[in-house]
Amino acid sequence: MGKQEDFVIRALEERDVRFVRLWFTDVLGSLKSVAVAPAELEGAFAEGLGFDGSAIEGFARVQEADMLVKPDPATFQILPWRGEGPATARMFCDIEMPDGSPSYADPRFVLKRTLQAAGEKGFTFYTHPEVEFYLFKHPPEPGVEPVPVDRSGFFDHTAQSQGADFRREAITMLESMGISVEFSHHEGGPGQQEIDLRYADALSTADNLMTFRTVIREVALSQGIWATFMPKPFTTHPGSAMHTHMSLFEGDQNAFFEAGAEYQLSPVARKFAAGILHHAAEITCVTNQWVNSYKRLLGGGEAPSYISWGHNNRSAMLRVPMHKPSKGQSTRIELRTVDAACNPYLAYAVILGAGLKGIEEDYELPREAEDDVWSLTHRERRALGIDPLPGSLAEAIEVAEGSELLADVLGEHVYDFFLRNKRSEWEDYRGHVHAYERDRMLSVI
Ligand code: GLU
Ligand code: MG
Ligand code: MG
Repeated sequence: MGKQEDFVIRALEERDVRFVRLWFTDVLGSLKSVAVAPAELEGAFAEGLGFDGSAIEGFARVQEADMLVKPDPATFQILPWRGEGPATARMFCDIEMPDGSPSYADPRFVLKRTLQAAGEKGFTFYTHPEVEFYLFKHPPEPGVEPVPVDRSGFFDHTAQSQGADFRREAITMLESMGISVEFSHHEGGPGQQEIDLRYADALSTADNLMTFRTVIREVALSQGIWATFMPKPFTTHPGSAMHTHMSLFEGDQNAFFEAGAEYQLSPVARKFAAGILHHAAEITCVTNQWVNSYKRLLGGGEAPSYISWGHNNRSAMLRVPMHKPSKGQSTRIELRTVDAACNPYLAYAVILGAGLKGIEEDYELPREAEDDVWSLTHRERRALGIDPLPGSLAEAIEVAEGSELLADVLGEHVYDFFLRNKRSEWEDYRGHVHAYERDRMLSVI
């Protein structure tokens, strides 16, 4: 056993851990967990632990169901909401085939493979997500409009605010699990919150986001309220995004930074950004994977709906945030399409894949959109070469079905499963009669 495994085995005793939860993620981004007794761990580190992969969404076909979960000792943490003595811990796992090769269906592996491709070019991919979500007074009930915990708005500071109490407890819990939080505030919608995680390499960020979503839900339940990352819970209030700031590093140098260049963006940064713009429509069905995601991207509420980039322009899909000229190392770009209901492993893999393609193929960054792209007419946008993002899950799937990049990055198995699953979600939605239709039609026709 290696040093990290030894550390885990020792910690199990010292912290009186009775249950170890082995965590992994299915293709659609749901967290899966199997609890083992501490005595099983040495074996799990050495050989993995068998499970039936065909029972997990998108993992395996029935005839090749046997798979192994192999815990990653670097991700060992005690779960604070389960209490101490006896304690419960968790580790993220990699999924392996019986012969020890990585499973092609494991989203964590899909991201690792793309990070390795970046590594071969000398790059580490860093990400910093701004996660937005709503807090409601009650758990969801079919057909009942959710009630936000407050009526506050952007950056509001109010006395005895439920949101502020919630953020304080959630952030304390995240920090105790080694997840650093940089900012937090009330967002634009009633009951809407934002918590921003500190920069980390993309694999840690994706693991952290899986933990984050769990912690937020646990803390909400413990306070008798309900948290949701649904991209657009209300017609008339802003949706919830997961803007992601990113940069490539070469060693400890930010490869996006060039002193004196426009916005201090190096040629690497410009090509990376060009890659994301060029492939934006293809990757949207992964960064925004639900029928509901496209209600957020319809325009308004500060969500992007066109493929454009800008400096200080919040209608742009890709933004170069302002930073002090002296802080070259923090040069970065911010992608504003992503929502927090994505599978973060797959989303970061396809974003990185698109950016790397831009570098490989020397894509040229198109002109910056200086104007508020929403206020332009359709013809003006056409003249400027600003295309819309896919307008629905159906449109997003259609573009994705023709995407070589997506097939390459996701691998054949995940690509096929993902698109089949999303097609069936769309067909299901399409066949439903919605309250909107009855309200509009029953009394007039
Ligand atoms: N909630 C907005 C969205 O859905 C983003 C607000 C912001 O700019 O932080 O995209
Ligand atoms: Mg925000
Ligand atoms: Mg932002």
